[in-house]
Amino acid sequence: MNKKHLIFIGAPGSGKGTQARKLVEEAGYKHISTGDILRKEISEGSDLGKEVKSVIDAGKLVNDELMAKLLKANIDLDNESYIFDGYPRNTAQAGILNKLLGGHETLGIYFKVDIEDLIVRITNRRICQNCGTIHNLITKPLAEDGSCVNCQSFDLLHRKDDTEEVLRDRMRIFDTETSPILKLYEADGDLVEVDASSEMNDIYKKIRSLI
Ligand code: AMP
Repeated sequence: MNKKHLIFIGAPGSGKGTQARKLVEEAGYKHISTGDILRKEISEGSDLGKEVKSVIDAGKLVNDELMAKLLKANIDLDNESYIFDGYPRNTAQAGILNKLLGGHETLGIYFKVDIEDLIVRITNRRICQNCGTIHNLITKPLAEDGSCVNCQSFDLLHRKDDTEEVLRDRMRIFDTETSPILKLYEADGDLVEVDASSEMNDIYKKIRSLI
């Protein structure tokens, strides 16, 4: 039987991607990160990538219609259990996802964290382009020679939208556009909160206990 679909809600850098990767490896979930899909389109130089690049680099949201199309093209709800990471980003997207998920069991997980902590966490984030490992120069550093701790690749990305200036904009968008969806999930009795500033393995254990 399929597991509940999980909807991860949290400001940029709150640790959603790290937890999702672990759940994919250890609990058989599929991870759908709309940010990852968009970045892939950009790196492949597709028409869609060209269309969205400036929006993403500026830390703004890509339009709802395009995102809905992209989401639908990347999911198979009847055969897989998903972690939605980065979707929905506003109440309109929450409505779209709700319709798509009609009849399926879901659980919203809110990654709650202090904004100033997040700024430090994200500006220090380096993502391995070879294996996806997310490092943090402070809490999960690179190997001594500056390579990925997991696969030794030197192809490490400091995202353009991970700089402090853009980040403040992304946080503001989270506050104004994304955080209202918490109330919707709460009203449906479909939301739990995790303290995203606690240790990664403790967060993981908490999530495992909920699913
Ligand atoms: P993320 O990796 O989830 O932080 O997403 C990076 C960027 O991709 C965001 O700042 C937005 O520009 C864009 N993006 C990702 N998901 C969405 C979405 N659901 N709706 C609109 N824009 C999105």
